[in-house]
Amino acid sequence: MSTPAPPTPNKPPLETKTTVGNYFVSNYPPFSFWKKESLPEIEAAMEREPAVDTPLGVYAHIPFCRKRCHFCYFRVYTDKNAESIRSYLDAMLKELTIYVNKPFIGGRKPSFIYFGGGTPSYLSSSQLFHLTDGMKGLLPWDEVKEVTFECEPGTLTNKKLKTLHEIGVTRLSLGVENFDDHILEINGRAHRGGEIDRAYGYAREVGFQQINIDLIAGMLDETEDNWKACVAKAIEMAPDSITVYQMEVPYNTTIYKRMKEEGKLAAPVADWDTKRHWTDYAYNELAKNGYTVTSAYTAVKDSSKVTFEYRDQLWAGADLLSVGVASFGHIGGTHYQNHHDFDPYVEQLGNGDLPVHRALTPGDDERLIREFVLQLKLGSVSLQYFTNKFGTNPADRFAEPLQRIADWGFLTIEGDRVNINREGLLQVDRLLHEFFLPEHRNARYA
Ligand code: SF4
Repeated sequence: MSTPAPPTPNKPPLETKTTVGNYFVSNYPPFSFWKKESLPEIEAAMEREPAVDTPLGVYAHIPFCRKRCHFCYFRVYTDKNAESIRSYLDAMLKELTIYVNKPFIGGRKPSFIYFGGGTPSYLSSSQLFHLTDGMKGLLPWDEVKEVTFECEPGTLTNKKLKTLHEIGVTRLSLGVENFDDHILEINGRAHRGGEIDRAYGYAREVGFQQINIDLIAGMLDETEDNWKACVAKAIEMAPDSITVYQMEVPYNTTIYKRMKEEGKLAAPVADWDTKRHWTDYAYNELAKNGYTVTSAYTAVKDSSKVTFEYRDQLWAGADLLSVGVASFGHIGGTHYQNHHDFDPYVEQLGNGDLPVHRALTPGDDERLIREFVLQLKLGSVSLQYFTNKFGTNPADRFAEPLQRIADWGFLTIEGDRVNINREGLLQVDRLLHEFFLPEHRNARYA
């Protein structure tokens, strides 16, 4: 006789205090499982023709910032001069040159382009033209549906905004994070509130197809009143979309270093309940003002017009040709990441070598988990879509975690749809770990 399974606790095992670490799931399997030994797999993937109907996107990583934010865990450079930046941009173009002659391109042109960082808007107009003219010469942009460009408001002059429009940027994503000067300063942000207003005004005049504003709930010194004022200000500006992230304190951040020095386990920021409450407040206010919540992090003004090609294509398994230091890509079923240090990256390309540092080829089940968890962040997925694509019905494959999360009150299955409710969406990244293979559950994400 088998031992009965223990009853599912009706509360998820979630922390309330903000402690060090990342929950945010941006890919699967976790990066700590990507290995140098698997480099031959990415080399082999590049020698194969692409699978039918797999779109191609390009990610360009710009690792420069005016200053390092205290919550930032990315490898960013605040001390590079124009000459180093030029050598970096040339290295990126060399990298792209190596890729465009490989069979995996298979005659495809990119359907989306994403400039992320770091701070892409740190580049000057002439650096931007140099980079994008070079990119277009190698992989034409005439089939591109979306060009996203991340910006730090203090770096945006009128001239630069015109340049961005001219090179074809369709979505300008403004890293506002907060509107209050004290909060911006104490969190180490380079910009101030006045620069946000100026940049946003110029950007509207220039006329981008979409402007997105990023906010972070729970920065150092955040208060309920200030958060409400931030939400009100964002609504008053009426951007096409607003992204809300909840503050995490990863390892390798200034905040964590201070916590260690002071022997503290809890970060000096709001606890998770408060951050969820603030994010929920933002979504409710946005909804009252005509926005629709379309994912765990995003509300859009007009969901019939505002699309996210980068997110949607990537989460559905598109190839991502990623260039730049430490950038993450995905080609022909294999994940890869480039060298995360500036000099080795530039030097390897100077020698004509691929700057890839580690790779991983997910198995069929891992690919299913990856797409399923990423798409669950949208709040609703179709079981049939996954059954058609992977030959496995997620309702069977994930019966246990689906039931567990349903018992916790965050999820329902209605006909073909798995739906996550608002309370679930507000903590979706933690819930997604329930779908991981056991060996991946406690892995560090960053
Ligand atoms: S602007 Fe972004 S990438 Fe640069 S230091 Fe701040 S959080 Fe990090």
